[in-house]
Amino acid sequence: MNETPQSLARNANAIKMTMKRRTDFAGKYPEEWNDLPRTRKEAQSIKPAPIHYFTAKLCPYGHLERRFTGGGNCFQCLTLDVARRSQLQKKEREAAIISKRETRTCPECGEGFLLRPKDRQDKIYCSKKCAGAESKRAYVRADPERRKKQSAKSATKRYREKTVDQRRIDRNKYSKNRGPRRKAAHNVRTRINNAIRHRLNGGTKSWRLKDIGFDVDKFMEHIESLWEPGMSWDNYGVGPGKWVRDEIVPMCSFDMTDPKQAKECMRLENLRPLWHEANQRKAKIDLKFSKRH
Ligand SMILES: [Zn+2]
Ligand SMILES: [Zn+2]
Repeated sequence: MNETPQSLARNANAIKMTMKRRTDFAGKYPEEWNDLPRTRKEAQSIKPAPIHYFTAKLCPYGHLERRFTGGGNCFQCLTLDVARRSQLQKKEREAAIISKRETRTCPECGEGFLLRPKDRQDKIYCSKKCAGAESKRAYVRADPERRKKQSAKSATKRYREKTVDQRRIDRNKYSKNRGPRRKAAHNVRTRINNAIRHRLNGGTKSWRLKDIGFDVDKFMEHIESLWEPGMSWDNYGVGPGKWVRDEIVPMCSFDMTDPKQAKECMRLENLRPLWHEANQRKAKIDLKFSKRH
């Protein structure tokens, strides 16, 4: 770059102006910008050239910003521009996809599905489940033994192989499952289940959970009124295709050692029949909730 006395003088003057503006605008911009070159020329004279310089001169859009040594553009104008352009492009793309209403057929399940803006353009399968089906089959084909080994390791099998003592130790790993609260909850559950079993077996002894004001007959009536199609006392219990007694506000949120709270938990309004699977899903959510509290 050839420097004439005039251009050197111009730059010196520009630096002076920058210094004046920086004092005028002091506090209105981050202090570390004071370390940046004061003019573009000054920035270019440094090797390697810094990305930004700061003249404290407002850009045509009124931004008090750094400028790029490369093109002299205002930092904010350039970044705003990029963001605005990409957002516009995104909107246009989405609108195009919606207006096309393109449907595809899933090669796995044969169902048709509509391509939505969020989807990848090369979407082939209707769902994650369908997309994974083929690789799952390939995985089994590649090594059928591996599958057997894995199923041998499955949680249910591991559980079955454990001794009663080991199961108890595992269960008590969680503080929630230990101590008098668990015992009380367990007692109420067994008492209710025993009472129902007694009734179903034609028992006449009036079993009432008097201490918490629980009436087995009323309970059974209440539950029967809420039965969904397919529910009966024959499939009351835990397991697939069975239903359980569900506490709408879960038992773990009550202190069952306290008769008042136990009564509150076992109010008919808090009890309903629920399919086992649904109850399990709910239990997971309840557990998360009780851990947080
Ligand atoms: Zn600007
Ligand atoms: Zn599918």
